[in-house]
Amino acid sequence: MKRIYKKSLAIALALITVFNMTGCVQKPGNPQESGEPQVSGQPQESGEPQESGEPQESGEPQESGEPGESGGLFETDYASWVNSDVQEWVKQVGEADAKDDFHLHVNRDWMVNTTIPDGYSSYDPITERALQVDSQLMDILENPEKETDPELIHDQELVQKYYTMWLDWDARNELGVQALKELLDPLMEVENLDDLTAYLSMPRTVISATELAQCEVSMDWNNADYYAVYVMPVDLIFGDSMYYGYMEESDALSEPYYNEVIRHILVELGYSDEEATEVLKSCFAFEKDISEYIMTTEEESARDAVVRENNPRTLEELEAEAGDFPIRSILEAYGAENSDSYILTQPDWIAAMDVLYTEEYVGHLRDYLICYTIQDYATLLDRETYDLYYKVINDISGAVGTKSDKKSATDAVDDFLPTQLGRLYSEKYVSDETKNEVTDITKEIMDEYRVMLSEETFLTEETRKEAIKKLDSLALRIAKPDKWEDDAGLNFAGSSEGGNLISAQDEVGAYWVERMKSRINQKVDRDLWTSRVQQVNAFYDPSQNSITLCGGILGGTLYDPNMSREELFANVGDTIAHEISHAFDTTGCQFDEKGNLRNWWTEQDQAAFSTRADKLAAYYDNIEPFMDVYCVGSQIEGEAIADLVAMKILLRIAQKDKNFNYDEFFRTFAQTWRTITTARSEYYVLSQDTHPLPYLRVNCVVQQFDEFYDTYGVKKGDGMYLAPQDRLEVW
Ligand SMILES: [Zn+2]
Repeated sequence: MKRIYKKSLAIALALITVFNMTGCVQKPGNPQESGEPQVSGQPQESGEPQESGEPQESGEPQESGEPGESGGLFETDYASWVNSDVQEWVKQVGEADAKDDFHLHVNRDWMVNTTIPDGYSSYDPITERALQVDSQLMDILENPEKETDPELIHDQELVQKYYTMWLDWDARNELGVQALKELLDPLMEVENLDDLTAYLSMPRTVISATELAQCEVSMDWNNADYYAVYVMPVDLIFGDSMYYGYMEESDALSEPYYNEVIRHILVELGYSDEEATEVLKSCFAFEKDISEYIMTTEEESARDAVVRENNPRTLEELEAEAGDFPIRSILEAYGAENSDSYILTQPDWIAAMDVLYTEEYVGHLRDYLICYTIQDYATLLDRETYDLYYKVINDISGAVGTKSDKKSATDAVDDFLPTQLGRLYSEKYVSDETKNEVTDITKEIMDEYRVMLSEETFLTEETRKEAIKKLDSLALRIAKPDKWEDDAGLNFAGSSEGGNLISAQDEVGAYWVERMKSRINQKVDRDLWTSRVQQVNAFYDPSQNSITLCGGILGGTLYDPNMSREELFANVGDTIAHEISHAFDTTGCQFDEKGNLRNWWTEQDQAAFSTRADKLAAYYDNIEPFMDVYCVGSQIEGEAIADLVAMKILLRIAQKDKNFNYDEFFRTFAQTWRTITTARSEYYVLSQDTHPLPYLRVNCVVQQFDEFYDTYGVKKGDGMYLAPQDRLEVW
């Protein structure tokens, strides 16, 4: 479950930098030569998986419980479970005992006998449910119901228009890149700084193209009742800025995404092959230069990230820091020049833009904007470009096959008109009974949190009171909103009115920019949701102190009112307890009960909490999912804390029920995290995701709790054993 973060970590293009898999922290002295991910514990050349529980490098089993060579923090020798998310590796290992590798033990049969669906590089219960929701959404689009409510009639019209236009390949092929060319023409004519500033100041640029700064209106970190304007760096085509430290021009130019997709569209737009190469080189030069001043994924998920990013500014201060970079003009194009509050997330970036915004450099800035805008439209053009895009994405992610057109069109409507499709979905598929029952489970879990916090011995009374106040103020957004925003004014031309996918982007984009503008300096309406009902996901939002369980996640194998209590706990109960605990993870605990970034901790309590969190991060730093490639504890600690506390809370509630079936509970829990994926995709997740890998979300969690040891008789020497003094407890 992802946590909503202030900014859109948008790009997520799943661009796996195949050329140099240096995404993860390696132990010093162990540079990884090969571009291919390797299973932990094996020589690099071999694709063989490692036997579960076998120690690395040595063929001799090491005595468990002995201090490791490093004489480090932990007594227990780290279990080297096989990375049992990767299907090809699971197929090569035998069955595992529950005592040695619980995730593999429960899930091996399923992992061996399940197929990754076409167009995907991994499959798990969340994806399974997402496919169910997708077919429900497709049904809404394919078999539109006769609505009577005016709001729903309007929603129905809009989604039908877009769906029909998306599937009309004749019209799309005939239009080709023409509409994109019209959008880019003013940019392609940019020759000097004045031209560029004029281009960046056009409202259409902020609505439909890429800007040189991102602007978002969202809850103010320093005054949660009001909105602030966040000023943020550009996104990079390869995602994480860290990659650019390793990447040279030749690497970028040989990347299929750069070299095939963007080059193909450039040529369609009229560039010769040589000219296209020059544009790509020039774009990369800017990306490489600016990447040094943009935080990496690891930095963005670190404990101090929010404090580093919280830099309140006036417009005058922003202008002074931006120097020659025309930040005021860009904000004016957004209509965001009159905000009482701006937050500059990365001051180093804006200072660097001042240095780069020169006549000599203008070509690089223009070429970046051309390439970035182009790649945003790659799936909305003609068939040839669309097919090429998916071929490249599949090559990169290891996925095979393609999604059906109707499925892709449904995804496109879901992206483009999320509220409209969500309202129709909610009406048809999300019942009041589900909302009520899940709300009841949530309240039961919150009650246990209250008891746990009040008993917390490492906190002083003062901090404990604040923590309980935060829990009691938690806003619950469950299943579907009670209140929807009025979108009666939203409209765009369909194909019969002369519209196309790109003109629709212009019209709808303009509407959302107006909506964003209307929020500036206004009070936040806390009844409104910031996420899609139909999503198969759940969130904690620190700036609103709210948890959201989207309607999409409350169905299929993830939620069914007829489940046993053990099954409910292992599914929806775990999700709820996980999301609540984000209020108290290393990032969440920096926000107060209203969502203000305010330190409510005494120094002493903070130090005690940090010590506990440090131990957790160090524990994950020792886990090696690929040979010589370790988890980055600091990158995943927030999610790992949430996983751990969720289990603790559920087991505390279970203790009150003398008939509680722990075996059923733990097995169902392990099943919820079963995953099959490709090594390539797993590697990307390891380097970029803030969550622990799925098999670790089972094994690392259950091995912290006595109930697990008691249920399966785990003893010293077993793969699942962790010495009592090494077990983690953050809350
Ligand atoms: Zn989470």
